[in-house]
Amino acid sequence: MLPYQSLEEAEEALGRALSVAEKLWFQYSAQKPDFILHCHDILFVMLFYTLAPLPFVFIGLGWFKNMDKFKIQPKVNDCLSNMFKCYKHVMRTFVLVVGPLQVISYPTIQWTGIRTSLPLPSLSEVFWQIVVYFIIEDFSSYWIHRMLHTKWAYKKIHRVHHEYTAPIGLAAPYAHWAEILILGLPSILGPALVPGHIVTYWLWFILRQLEAIETHSGYLLPWTPTKYIPFYGGAEYHDYHHFVGEQSKSNFASIFTYCDYIYGTNKGYRSHKQVIEKVKSL
Ligand SMILES: [Zn+2]
Ligand SMILES: [Zn+2]
Repeated sequence: MLPYQSLEEAEEALGRALSVAEKLWFQYSAQKPDFILHCHDILFVMLFYTLAPLPFVFIGLGWFKNMDKFKIQPKVNDCLSNMFKCYKHVMRTFVLVVGPLQVISYPTIQWTGIRTSLPLPSLSEVFWQIVVYFIIEDFSSYWIHRMLHTKWAYKKIHRVHHEYTAPIGLAAPYAHWAEILILGLPSILGPALVPGHIVTYWLWFILRQLEAIETHSGYLLPWTPTKYIPFYGGAEYHDYHHFVGEQSKSNFASIFTYCDYIYGTNKGYRSHKQVIEKVKSL
């Protein structure tokens, strides 16, 4: 909820005219309690989880035969009923675990200083904050993921996410509820350490969701814009981690490649790539 009764009052307080985006934000948020704005996040997560994997679902069902050549593991195919089972599992986790977590985490979010007020952040502020969030997420989830590959944690928790040896976009958040909870921490750590505007917070969760869906898509699309991001792992990188499964000692990082490089956990993947290159050159 904004502390102004009208646009004029907001402009007077800021000492300047509001931008178009700020006027829209005023109209949308002025009368909404901050708690309701905070809870939008789970709706965005569910909406983008439902919509973003759809192109990969259609490709996987064979609607676009010319895309089959980009499939990373061409011999493995999922049917519609399996995909729907995966979707239902994830949505249940969102409703029963992530939603309540969002609600009870509100005081923490307030405490970290994430704001809903005017002015809106500049584009460069949003950009750099999200870059920092991705770096923090990548580093902390790398270590959590390594812990999830210890014998006990794998058997009790992480095994569920690895049911997909050839991942699909819908399976990005397919995991044991405890893993969803544990891996929620790296996602809120960035906004907690470098708090920004709630719009940045929403955008962060949407982008993180899109990144995870692409990484699990099972397709290496040549035109994906993410290939221009320095040190970005991408679909092929994470696909290898699922392909090897429980025994995997490689590719623990969820976004970038540098943690696996620094801590020496990319050796399996490197030799796998070398073998593939050799076979291709024959
Ligand atoms: Zn794993
Ligand atoms: Zn995965």
